[in-house]
Amino acid sequence: MNIPVLDLKAQFNSMQSELLEAVTRVSVSQQCILGPEVTAFEQEIASYLNVGHTIAVSSGTDALLMALMALDCGPDTEVIVPTFSFFATAGCVVRSGARPVFVDVDPDTFCISPDAIRSAITTKTRAIIPVHLYGRMADMNQILQIANDHGVKVIEDAAQAIATTDSSGRSAGTLGDVGCFSFYPTKNLGAFGDAGLITTNDGDLAHHLRIMRNHGMEPIYNHQFIGGNFRMDGIQGAVLRAKLPYLRKWNAARRRNACLYEELLVKSGVSTGSSTRFFTNNNRVILPHRFSNNDEDFQHTFHQYTIRIEKRDELKDFLESRSIGSAIYYPLSFHQQPCFASLSSSNASYPYADALSTTVLSLPIYPELSESDIYTVVSAIAEFANDQYQAEPITTEFQGS
Ligand SMILES: *Cc1c(COP(=O)(O)O)cnc(C)c1O
Repeated sequence: MNIPVLDLKAQFNSMQSELLEAVTRVSVSQQCILGPEVTAFEQEIASYLNVGHTIAVSSGTDALLMALMALDCGPDTEVIVPTFSFFATAGCVVRSGARPVFVDVDPDTFCISPDAIRSAITTKTRAIIPVHLYGRMADMNQILQIANDHGVKVIEDAAQAIATTDSSGRSAGTLGDVGCFSFYPTKNLGAFGDAGLITTNDGDLAHHLRIMRNHGMEPIYNHQFIGGNFRMDGIQGAVLRAKLPYLRKWNAARRRNACLYEELLVKSGVSTGSSTRFFTNNNRVILPHRFSNNDEDFQHTFHQYTIRIEKRDELKDFLESRSIGSAIYYPLSFHQQPCFASLSSSNASYPYADALSTTVLSLPIYPELSESDIYTVVSAIAEFANDQYQAEPITTEFQGS
């Protein structure tokens, strides 16, 4: 049996007629760019996330670039980013003209470390970009406090965390000055192509971003400043409107899958549970940091379910030989990227990011995954672990339960 790391067709098949109807609506109307579907989506997602303003844009990358431009991150300014994230987080900072300052991540959340931010702030710091990695929220209380103390802006990269909430029910991407989302097809809410969103509670900033999206134009053919073509397509708006009502259900299914992984990985003896000490080397699988029904971070939306294991590459190959997909997010941190070589400072160290990039492996977690798929994945991991680490036998009792 083949278990891919992600199965977009399964979701499409589950709501095919609604999606085709949405595409047809736009095709017939020929409102190809922005238009009523995009405007309606902006309103629906604003109330879904409980945020004042939403601007639908061309991609998550463009959302980040626009946010940096709008907050005057440019030459002679610095922007603090976690070194462990998808490339766009840092790439956009350089494109804005600002200098990215890479800092380490927190050992529990894998998101930007508040302590590392404190040590990296200078008089040039203009903004901080916390990334809510894998669907888990960064420590926003501390980050907002630091930003407030130093008068710097917060741009949330919530590309992987749509509908993740904190313990007070506030949505990721609505807490800082600006929130950036991606609807790349593989994200928890995916369009039929590239699409993204900016959120803010600041009306003036929202107005500025709305104009920026269309070459800084207001009124027609009068250009107030230099923006770009950052517009969302009509089809993406219609598809996202059709999918939005299912998002809560899909995210709940991802959490359910994560709970089953945790239960089975512990039951099998492959893992002793989530790590309390980051650098524990028990030669087995380390689970994502503990979560439970009662934990505040249970609102984790599990864009990825990411385990850690020393023999990561070997496990990945083994799973592949069993037709089980897995993925490495991310094999290199920013401070290791060739294109950022000139930016890295020699006295900086990133022990947590360095440990993550060599040990993380993301397992299939998509909502349509069946229980038996998860049994199959865990059985394969148990088999691998038995073979590799023979010190303590691993039970396979859970099989067939
Ligand atoms: C996907 C992603 C982006 C970029 O979004 P695109 O829509 O692909 O441009 C930015 N940051 C993070 C953390 C992402 O996962």
